[in-house]
Amino acid sequence: MSFLQQHQLTRINNIIDNLNMEHDLSFPENSILDVAERLGISVKTVTFKEDIAGLLDYGTENQGSQIFISETDNEKKRNFTIAHEIGHLLLHEMNRGRLKIDRHDIQTLTKKSANEEEADYFAAELLVPQLKLKEIIFKARMPEWDLINYCSTYFNVSKSVIANRLKWLKF
Ligand SMILES: [Zn+2]
Repeated sequence: MSFLQQHQLTRINNIIDNLNMEHDLSFPENSILDVAERLGISVKTVTFKEDIAGLLDYGTENQGSQIFISETDNEKKRNFTIAHEIGHLLLHEMNRGRLKIDRHDIQTLTKKSANEEEADYFAAELLVPQLKLKEIIFKARMPEWDLINYCSTYFNVSKSVIANRLKWLKF
């Protein structure tokens, strides 16, 4: 996510602020499934034949958007994937009527496409809001490993998401 420029980050943060305000959402009090529901997106857990983490059907004017997630991933991982797909939907609207497939192997690449970086940043910002994370860091004063464990449970995302977030915030 560090490859994104400030104007891209600002755009994404504005979209998240509007989303939260418009739908009266806050994290981690609300879940990512609440977001999907309020946006009218259906989320289904499925068995993929290939190594796919998430599949987004952008939908059309007449047919709502759908997100399919892998049943082999745990809840924390699925939460991030759903948020990532909602990111694609809100940030990359030009793909209306198309399918977007996110594979597990792409998620581990160091050099991702700009759209993937943006969807990851969207998911991280939405699920682990900077302000709340900073508040915990300052109040808790715990060693990094305890902090990662605590925040992973608190925000219901994987430890690697929290670790990346801390790295990005330079803690
Ligand atoms: Zn993606």
